[in-house]
Order: sequence, then C-alpha cells, then structure tokens
Amino acid sequence: MHPLLILIIAFVLLEFGVSSVLSWLNGKWMTHPIPAVLEGLYDEEKYQKQQAYMRANARVGWIERGVALAITLAVLIPGLLGWLDTLTTQWTHSLLLQLLIFFSIYAVVSAIISLPFSYYDTFVIEQKFGFNKTTKKTFWFDALKSFLLTLVLGSVLLAVIFILYSYLGKSFWIWATLVCAAFIMFFSLFYSNLIVPLFNKQKPLEEGELRTAIEDAAHEMGFSIKNIYVIDGSKHSTKANAYFTGFGMKKRVVLYDTLIEQLTTKEIVAVLAHELGHNKHRDTIKTMIMSIAMVAVNLFVFSLLADNPDLSHALGGSRDHSFALSLVAFSLLFSPIDLVLDPIINGVSRRCEYAADAFAKKYGHSEHLISGLKKMSANTLSNLTPHPAVVWMDYSHPTLAQRITALINA
Ligand SMILES: [Zn+2]
Repeated sequence: MHPLLILIIAFVLLEFGVSSVLSWLNGKWMTHPIPAVLEGLYDEEKYQKQQAYMRANARVGWIERGVALAITLAVLIPGLLGWLDTLTTQWTHSLLLQLLIFFSIYAVVSAIISLPFSYYDTFVIEQKFGFNKTTKKTFWFDALKSFLLTLVLGSVLLAVIFILYSYLGKSFWIWATLVCAAFIMFFSLFYSNLIVPLFNKQKPLEEGELRTAIEDAAHEMGFSIKNIYVIDGSKHSTKANAYFTGFGMKKRVVLYDTLIEQLTTKEIVAVLAHELGHNKHRDTIKTMIMSIAMVAVNLFVFSLLADNPDLSHALGGSRDHSFALSLVAFSLLFSPIDLVLDPIINGVSRRCEYAADAFAKKYGHSEHLISGLKKMSANTLSNLTPHPAVVWMDYSHPTLAQRITALINA
C-alpha cells in the first residue's frame, strides 16, 4: 500500500473515531438532569417522546457513519478512484472533460449513497414524530433539483479553477480565490432570488398587525426594513425558523409560515430583534469573509501539493498528474484540519449568537425571546442536555439553557 494512502486511511479512521465518540458521549448525556431554567419545558409524556426521537436519530447516525466508512475504505483500498481516473482518459483526450466526467460520476455515486438515508430520515423518523410535511413527489423533485444545482455550479467552478491552474501553474490559487470570493458574494446576494425559489415560495409579509409590529420594533432599533418575506416552510416540515440574508440593498428578513403559526406577535418580533442584532454586528459579512479566508488557505495548500505525483498514485492513479485525484487526495489529507477549525468557527458563531441575543435584550425583547426560543425548542423536540464536548465541537448556537441563562443574567 502507498504510504500516503495509509496516512489517508488513518485520517478517515480518525474522523470516524471522533464523530463516534461525540455521538456516544451525547447518548450517555441524555439522561443528565434537565437544567433548572428549562424545568417544565416538556411534560413527562413529551419528554419520553423527545428521548425516543433522539435515540432514533442516533441509531440512524451510527448506521450512516458505518456505511460511509465501509464504502470509503472499499473505494480507497483497491484504488477504485484511480481506476475511474484511468477510465476517463480512455473516453476523451480533453483534460478538462476528464476532470468533469470524474466528478460527475463521483457526485452521482455520492447522491445514490446518501439518498436512502435522507429518505428514511424524512419518511420514517420525521414522519413518525409528526414533523414531516414533505410529499414523496416533493422529496424526489427536491433531490433532483439540488443534485442538478450542485452538478452545474460545481462543474462551472471546477472548470474555472482547472483552467486557471493549467495556465498559471502554482500561482493559480490567488486567482482561484478571487473567483471563489466572487462566487460566494454573488450567491450571498442573490440566494433569495435564485436558489430559494427552486424549493420554496416566498411572498412579502402582508400589511397587518404583525408587519406593523415588526416595522415599529425595527424602527426603534434604528433599522428600516422593507424586505420582510414569508416562506412556505410548511411545505417540508413543521419545524419553524427565521433568518436574515443578503447584504446591502439585497438585505431580507425571512420568516417561516410555521413560525408565524406557532409564535405570538411579540415572540416573532423578539426573534426578529435577534436577527437584526446579527445585522447590526455585520455577522453575514463576517461569515462571508471567514469562508473566503478558508477557501484561500485551502487553495494555497492545494497549490503546493497539486503537482506532486504521489497524490495521484496514492489513490491508485496510473498517471503522474491527475487534477481530480490530487484534489480528492488533498481534501482527504486536509480533512483533519476541520477537527481544529470546526470548534473555532463554531465558537465564533456561538459568540455572535450571544451578542445577537444581548442586542434583542437591550431593546426589551428578552422575555419574549426566551418564551419564543422555548416554544421552538419544544416543538422540534430538541435535545436539552447535549454533551459539552459536542456543543464545543459542533454547535453553531449555544444550547437553549445557555442562551436563556445569558438572557436572564447578562
Ligand atoms: Zn442567530
């Protein structure tokens, strides 16, 4: 076995090990006493339901991780990716087409592997616990649309990066970063106009009590928001949400119809105050800069390795330079970095959440934000006692208990 392949497999096992340990810790923590601030959120019957929901999700998680590991090893050890790469050279002489064919097949196979799990999640687990609203027709159309979207956008981006690499050599990463940055900014601006309509309907929030309350509260906090939209989240699930998207002229507040159904006007305004906190602190732009910085680091390190024939050979490639194999090998070799980056990124994100909550509190929305968050958590059967290590590693938001404690005390 190629020494680099041994290293890659060690990293794959490391990631599997870490995620399994975290899942096991979370399972052990399930019976932990509920924090005092959340006392009474679930009655006994609902708490049993919540515990059953967690166990069902954990069980599927274990199976999914196990299957993913088995398939990854079954692909890597015999060098199937190298075999596929060689095969593409027999179909066309164009290096660019070889690359695109390789990743299209890769995408199709990945989609085929992940579909049964998302089907089971939607129509067995979410269905059983009363969350699912998706029809089978919607499910399949959505799956097809997101697959095609990934394929088209991915191919365009990949083609541009490859062409830059072919012409510029090592320094391609600088231009590739600029292209990716433009891509990220474009989709951050036009996400609501281009992507969301493929899956959901949005319409401006009608004039009325809620709209007036939101506009008045926003005005008080120094904002004038014109773009308030309602999205038909109920097409997919009963779970409620709200988010802020875009920047500059494209700023938009989006409320799920399920949120409007489940929360009172004051609670919705409080949730919105939290979102405006994100806007005030420029969190969308900060996140965007952080993603672009990560892309730059990734592309820079890749530029140092891309010409190394070991990357192709480790995956069973028969030629010294395969951009596709180098890219896959690089992403596998770089993946342990995520174990370091995830807690940092999530830690930053949790701080932004606390700050947005504090902003809502500053304008007197603390009490209704607490009751709104409690309702949303109870309605989604969310885990009240996640293990601290899981929170540290995976949680982009503080736990409900942490948020409420901070809202009461800060
Ligand atoms: Zn937030």
